[in-house]
Amino acid sequence: MLQFVVECYTLFVSKGRELTLLTYDVLIAILQQTATHAASAVLAIIAFYLSLVSTSLPPTAYERLQIDNAIQLLADRGFSEEVFLLKGTTTFRATDHWLNSFVDKENAYASTNFPFQIVTVYPDFYSKAEDNTERAMVLMHEARHLMGENENEAYAYVWRHRKQLGWSMKTHGSTDSYVTIEQQTREMAPELFNCPEKPWEDCTE
Ligand SMILES: [Zn+2]
Repeated sequence: MLQFVVECYTLFVSKGRELTLLTYDVLIAILQQTATHAASAVLAIIAFYLSLVSTSLPPTAYERLQIDNAIQLLADRGFSEEVFLLKGTTTFRATDHWLNSFVDKENAYASTNFPFQIVTVYPDFYSKAEDNTERAMVLMHEARHLMGENENEAYAYVWRHRKQLGWSMKTHGSTDSYVTIEQQTREMAPELFNCPEKPWEDCTE
């Protein structure tokens, strides 16, 4: 994470100035310092973002098509907030940038750097996910991170909305991705599997 260093500084004023003038000068000085610090912070964020983008590769045209198809499926199923973020704010990458080497990844499909809105998409997204629906499920999870949600919230959201997406036990229950994500959801969002009266104790069934 970025850390912004706050500097202390002293304002020197001459003894003979009127109080109102002094107040005005101090106010102007504070505003100037604030503007300088804000500009420095924005430049630091831009430099950090560019360092992430420049140390990774973009998806190929074929990979980009798969990503776009998955986003379109999300749009067709009514996930407009997620689609807005994925289409309008996200930079997709195909390889890890320098920061990702320090970050634990909970699965091998994709990872997100919030608030830089960078989504890195890994080979499993194209090969282990069996169709557009499973790829849309992966992007839905990443879109929740783009909103600042943590793993518990992202897993729980996808699991609660899997039927709206068209990704359920009935349609995809035997795929590697369904089995993997269900297991991960049970670990990351155990509160959803606390209903003994429901099948598989799954409160969303
Ligand atoms: Zn995640």
